Amino acid sequence: MAKKENKFKGYDIATQAVHTGTDYDMATGAVRRPLYMANSYKLPDDLSQVNYSSTDLLMYARNGNPNQHWLEEKIAAMHEADDAIVLASGVAALHALFWTLLKSGDRVVYPNVSYMAVYRMFHELFNQKFGVETVIVDMTDLEAVKKAIVPGTRLVHIETPGNPTVGITDIEAIAAIAHQNGAILSVDNTFASPFNQKPLEFGADFVVESLTKFINGHGDAQGGAILSNDLETMDRIRYEAQVNVGSVISPFNAWQIFRGSATFPLRMQRINESSQKIAEWLAQRENVTFVAYPGLPDDPGHEVAKKQMKNGFGGVISFGVNADDKTVEHLCAALRIVTFAVSLGHDESLIFPQPSYDERINLYPEKFRRGFIRFSVGLEDAAELIEDLDQALHSVGL
Ligand SMILES: *Cc1c(COP(=O)(O)O)cnc(C)c1O
Repeated sequence: MAKKENKFKGYDIATQAVHTGTDYDMATGAVRRPLYMANSYKLPDDLSQVNYSSTDLLMYARNGNPNQHWLEEKIAAMHEADDAIVLASGVAALHALFWTLLKSGDRVVYPNVSYMAVYRMFHELFNQKFGVETVIVDMTDLEAVKKAIVPGTRLVHIETPGNPTVGITDIEAIAAIAHQNGAILSVDNTFASPFNQKPLEFGADFVVESLTKFINGHGDAQGGAILSNDLETMDRIRYEAQVNVGSVISPFNAWQIFRGSATFPLRMQRINESSQKIAEWLAQRENVTFVAYPGLPDDPGHEVAKKQMKNGFGGVISFGVNADDKTVEHLCAALRIVTFAVSLGHDESLIFPQPSYDERINLYPEKFRRGFIRFSVGLEDAAELIEDLDQALHSVGL
């Protein structure tokens, strides 16, 4: 697909978030992009040039829609990437990338800490269904990574900070090892968001974002994006995964995310600040057994995070309490401001316990195996969030 020129190239992400991809509506003069809910578009009189498996022409909803294209321009600009593909969810984006890059017999190296669906795809689906060799490694251990990424490895996938332990992986170091061995590096950047981290700068070949999280930011739309400068592979992904597997985003979700993302840099700035305060408070709170947040100076990922996270350390904090699963549930349910729900990156703060019976718990570092809670910091007043956490901890005797 021919990429639109970015009129705001070189501008700050705050300016890009407001202006890139938007313009007044030619038909009416409205200063907002309209929502185009249409399944098909008028065909040209001469059909000889039409390629029904491409996204070049607005033709049918699965080949793309204008709201998707405008959002792609904006997300690409935020990452200073040459191209973006926006799909139905973060997982659709991850799957589209893996599906297009991998074939039977290929080797994938992926982290011990990753989004649940990534674990499912590699631990269970791509290997059993398609004979892809999938290898788990602790990406914070560079010696182990060097052993796992051998020549012939097709893809290395990382997540930093990782969901749910908020561990940090050195993108530049992994990119070097991957490239020395002829492998491609993809990075799930959802926890950091492009306000804090742009993995292409550090040598990543592909970046995936769940737009459902911080970029939309209002908990009311689902979408995902793939970013890259490899235009040829990006078109291959459009062909293989969007048009012929069907992972396109709906115009309405694209419109919602486009709207939500105008305030994304401003929200992220506040979320970074509040998260730092809350992490520091938790770190000194009695009865909190550990706090994982890369903004804390003694966090094992702090030095690497300082190098690759430019504006802050993100909005997810993991912490532990010395309590069983039931007590942790009571704690989460006792919060008054914070919502007890999955997901992250919403306007409201969200909390989600990681139970000790999770099948992946033994893949995580030891301290995460008891009383482990993931907290996504929202836009509420930070002092009130701290008070809320404090009263909920007290309410269960902690
Ligand atoms: C939520 C999430 C995803 C998946 O995104 P969806 O939009 O829910 O499909 C992928 N990676 C990470 C790190 C996430 O937190």
